[in-house]
Amino acid sequence: MKLKLAPGLAIEKSAIEGKGCFAIAAFKHRRKIAEYTGERITNAEANRRASRRKLRICAINDRWSLDGSRGGNGTHYINHSCEPNAFMQILYGHILFIALRDIRPGEEITIDYESTLHSNKKRCVCGAPSCRGTINRLRSV
Ligand SMILES: [Zn+2]
Repeated sequence: MKLKLAPGLAIEKSAIEGKGCFAIAAFKHRRKIAEYTGERITNAEANRRASRRKLRICAINDRWSLDGSRGGNGTHYINHSCEPNAFMQILYGHILFIALRDIRPGEEITIDYESTLHSNKKRCVCGAPSCRGTINRLRSV
């Protein structure tokens, strides 16, 4: 199935992991890069899918998630980095990616996933100098 990509974005091979989402246009600091799109599913369904395949799921709230592997616009390829250039903001049920700084064409868009359906043991391979070593930000209990 051919992806309908959000404007200004392209999917390329990533130095971090697999494929990544790259800027082909400039994005200004604090401006919206794109909205996360996908199939709207319950969190129970999200947990069920997470146990079976590669995660392309993003939670909107404590009840609903979006699965970008169905109906996604390329933003579901955004990789994790411990030194990201973007962040995710949830606004009125919409998931938006916002630039943390000016982003130049050719840069890979990254966010800090912080907490995911991945196991806490999943290693981070982002390569950033300040890499914390795991995808999830672990909180001491
Ligand atoms: Zn890292």
